[in-house]
Amino acid sequence: MGDRGRKPNAGAIPGIKVAWESAAHVQMTRGGLSLAQTNLPPELRQILSWLSDLPQKVVEQDYSWANLTGVFGYNPKGGQVAHFMKDEGQSDIEAYDLSKDLILASAAKAVGVVRRSYLYMTQQPKLYRWGFGDTQGWGQEISACLAPALHTLQDSFSPAHVHRSQEPLFIILEIYAWDKVNKIHHSELDASWKNSALGMAAKAASGALIKCVVLAAVDPNSQNAFQDFAQNYVVDKYLRLSVALPNWRQNDAPTRSAFG
Ligand SMILES: [Zn+2]
Repeated sequence: MGDRGRKPNAGAIPGIKVAWESAAHVQMTRGGLSLAQTNLPPELRQILSWLSDLPQKVVEQDYSWANLTGVFGYNPKGGQVAHFMKDEGQSDIEAYDLSKDLILASAAKAVGVVRRSYLYMTQQPKLYRWGFGDTQGWGQEISACLAPALHTLQDSFSPAHVHRSQEPLFIILEIYAWDKVNKIHHSELDASWKNSALGMAAKAASGALIKCVVLAAVDPNSQNAFQDFAQNYVVDKYLRLSVALPNWRQNDAPTRSAFG
């Protein structure tokens, strides 16, 4: 029987681990952008229209990693942080904190750029209109900051990187190590995102993060506002780590009732 015949989640390590295919990152990012778009105030909506290269930039976060590990067999320490995986021997909590910090730090940089462009739009409306919008290259700058954040967030929903519970809240049960077993299959690509609850959640989480970034920009204290928003709408909703939850017991099993 091949790996594909194995029952998912039958053991600690599922038999096959495949990364999201590029199309998944593109669609999750596009979907996230339009989710964020729908309930932003109009003057903030146009900011998202500058981010046309964001989906491709999110995909590109995989290139350097794939090249290093695949072509050269080189496995740098911490090289998994951007993909929400851990080094062999690393604890889940340590790996979780590193990847979460990457997401929040990259997104916080994006907040700074959105804040600058928002101030220009509101304080120099004539100059802004004469420049027909994003003449300062804000969109590219915002995308460059947002792409690493979204990539890592989306990878956290990949069954190849993280074992999550199967129903809403999708508690993080285990972060996989980039080890010998995992490397064998990781170059195959996962297309399950199209219809899976995890794929939908990855899109919703992407939208939530983008919305937090843009909404924080209108607050004079934008960095603090962002930390609050991100904690409430991204970390508490989409990045719950089982072992860090109060009263977590391994035998509680990841049922909805266990988490309220
Ligand atoms: Zn990745």
